[in-house]
Amino acid sequence: MSNATVVDEKVLADCLNEICRAFLQADVRFETVRDVKANIKRIVNLDALAAGTNKRRIIQQAVVDEIRRMLDPGKPSFTPSKGKPNVVMFVGLQGSGKTTTCTKYADYHRRKGFNPALVCADTFRAGAFDQLKQNATKAKIPFYGSYTESDPVKIAVEGVDMFRKEKCDLIIVDTSGRHKQEAALFKEMRQVSEATKPDLVIFVMDGSIGQAAFDQAQAFKQSASVGAVIVTKMDGHAKGGGALSAVAATICPVIFIGTGEHIPDFEVFEVNPFVSRLLGMGDLSGLVNKIHEVIMPNNQPPKIVPQLVEGTFTLRLLYEMFQSLQSMGPLGQIVSMIPGFSAQFIEKGKEKEGQAKIKRYMTMMDSMTDAGEPVLHFLLGNHSLDRHCETHFSLTVYLELDGTNPKLMNQSRINRIAR
Ligand code: GDP
Repeated sequence: MSNATVVDEKVLADCLNEICRAFLQADVRFETVRDVKANIKRIVNLDALAAGTNKRRIIQQAVVDEIRRMLDPGKPSFTPSKGKPNVVMFVGLQGSGKTTTCTKYADYHRRKGFNPALVCADTFRAGAFDQLKQNATKAKIPFYGSYTESDPVKIAVEGVDMFRKEKCDLIIVDTSGRHKQEAALFKEMRQVSEATKPDLVIFVMDGSIGQAAFDQAQAFKQSASVGAVIVTKMDGHAKGGGALSAVAATICPVIFIGTGEHIPDFEVFEVNPFVSRLLGMGDLSGLVNKIHEVIMPNNQPPKIVPQLVEGTFTLRLLYEMFQSLQSMGPLGQIVSMIPGFSAQFIEKGKEKEGQAKIKRYMTMMDSMTDAGEPVLHFLLGNHSLDRHCETHFSLTVYLELDGTNPKLMNQSRINRIAR
């Protein structure tokens, strides 16, 4: 459309066909695609537009609005609030990513100031408790479970009671899954639910199943009073969009999406910023929120600001910047929030390399003493970003961590740090 000299019916039709093809390839339900196309055609009435109106803009806006509408599942009726014991129960089929997602959910809320805990009430799958224990230990979140008890209701009740007494304000109960939706699974879910009285039931679903998500979400919604959905495996699966739109069609609010196997690979799902990022339009408000969350948790300006104004930039400050950057989550996620700087600018795989490099610098700094004199010249370059991005950050810092007096670094210090 952007190459056409005149935007007429044919150009619009070609554009819409292309968009619909992309939807169908992403396994979006045919009915949804048909509705989206009809709605855009209805909104963009080329004949009725006054001369001089920017037709491209109107079409673009109509497309964006329709995609937002298609993916908007509404807001959940419950969100945990601090200071009272919130009980959240996770349900889903086996292999959907339920156990992994419980830990991601706990970790996300801990970073928001909650005091979460995990209860493993999955007694069906061998090794489920070990897996939860491993994840929880890695994320440093307290957990409860049993190797010998086979009654999931008993474990769930014991765990929830214990963590209530310990004043945990977000108690997450992981329940059993099965290979398919069957009566025994739903019965067990209802029993655990009646015994623990969760404030919210979250259904975890594998995004790679595409439009089959519609029937699955519908079934769980009816059998387990699901209040919110988390769609996992949205990384590198062509059918993820199909799954999201299918869940939206069942009017089950999607609250998070899983974007990888690791704990930080987890994103809040909000339809407007999601669509903006999807279309390469960035999400500045998301970026600002993230910076506020990480760098200014108490609305205090970061101490880096006065120090930069003074003109002293120590390695300790660089270390703190790296730390903030790391707690903001995966580099690719942050980059996709910057308008015009979509995730395509960072090749898949390269983002991990960038992150590893930062970690390596931090390891070196961990081996430095507090004070010192010599100078070190850093060049962070396009080996971590990709070839389109020519940015180099060149900066001179004083060794060791708090040193401010520039002198040459001596060999014995280099050797000591390297060692
Ligand atoms: P459960 O049986 O539902 O508890 O599922 P698990 O938590 O054991 O996850 C099943 C597999 O999916 C594991 O190998 C996870 O690492 C993987 N997994 C979970 N979430 C995601 C995700 O968002 N993306 C990807 N790529 N893999 C995921």
